[in-house]
Amino acid sequence: MTTLETCPICTMADALIAEDGFECATCGHEWLAEPDDAVGDVRDANGNVLAAGDTVVVVKDLKLNGKAGGVKIGTKVKSIRLVPGDHPIEGKIDGRTILITSDKVKKA
Ligand SMILES: [Zn+2]
Repeated sequence: MTTLETCPICTMADALIAEDGFECATCGHEWLAEPDDAVGDVRDANGNVLAAGDTVVVVKDLKLNGKAGGVKIGTKVKSIRLVPGDHPIEGKIDGRTILITSDKVKKA
């Protein structure tokens, strides 16, 4: 699906897609693409919809890239945040921020 971008300066809807945003074909104004912050429904391993601020429990061992130990089953992650991307759950464990896929947690 293509969204028609409208130039914020001359309001012509003929923007060209540039490297990291758009460039107006009419007036040459360049602007950055809006960050895609739309987070769809994030569901846990049981299919429950998660919300920011929820506490979740890790249901599968997580291997963290380049870090020994990883995260064990049963670890609680409090006050999660939801972020766009493949790993929509952001939480803090032992003071470090990690990103988790939603199928590896369940709502506490
Ligand atoms: Zn323009």
